[in-house]
Amino acid sequence: MRARELASGLSLFAARTPTLLPATHTNSYALGGRDVLLVEPATPYDDELRAWVAWARALPSEGRRPVALFATHYHPDHVGGVDVLARELGLPLWTHEETARRIGPEKVARRLVDGEELVLDGAVPQRWRVLETPGHAWGHLCLWEETQRTLVVGDMVASEGTIVIVPGDGDMRVYLEQLRRLRGIGATLALPAHGEPIDDPDAHFDRYIAHRLAREARVLAAVDRAGPEGARDVDLVPDAYADTPVGVWPFALFSLQAHLEKLVTDGRVVARGGRYVAAP
Ligand SMILES: [Zn+2]
Repeated sequence: MRARELASGLSLFAARTPTLLPATHTNSYALGGRDVLLVEPATPYDDELRAWVAWARALPSEGRRPVALFATHYHPDHVGGVDVLARELGLPLWTHEETARRIGPEKVARRLVDGEELVLDGAVPQRWRVLETPGHAWGHLCLWEETQRTLVVGDMVASEGTIVIVPGDGDMRVYLEQLRRLRGIGATLALPAHGEPIDDPDAHFDRYIAHRLAREARVLAAVDRAGPEGARDVDLVPDAYADTPVGVWPFALFSLQAHLEKLVTDGRVVARGGRYVAAP
């Protein structure tokens, strides 16, 4: 079932989107028992938009009243339906300034910043703290409800597919910092944009952090093996990603670049004329 209730005042709707395989859908969430925030106006597809609108329009029959749309970040598989959904449902979009800048400032009614609280009134009020968690995308936002220990994580982690860090758009160093921040928050339920809800968030964050650090070690070892002449990023992929299928190497190159950027910032690798050399 792609639309379902996870808890009182919390429901999920998964819509097909142009996202990164093997994921094929982006989750939207309806937060709030009476006042409702609709997370991720994601799908650009007509049939999916119709289903999404029907889902949102059915909420009032449960005593729930949508007040706004919310987007975690500007990637097309998160905001692809914003024009149609805002118009059809007559709802404003709340998101971060970085997202507004990229999708069109006129589409954003309210700019959210780190630390601000979004109170959704109802029999059991929900108080969602806005967390700015860049790294996968600039201005990426998470939402944290302390009483219910529930964390909307956007694309910080997923339970299906991988989270790609692309230099320029993302930053591996910042991403790891933000994962550690989320790791310490005390969540018992994490709601990702892709895949099933995560009921052991800290273990999940730990796996993500460990996975990135293990890859970083492989990248560093590959740079080491390239010797004093170093190597171009593209030539490091077969070594650093020898354990992954060749088919994912084009994406692996982005991640490898993100790791290299971090290793350069950390002073462990030197970039010289498009080649990467281990720091002495
Ligand atoms: Zn994304």
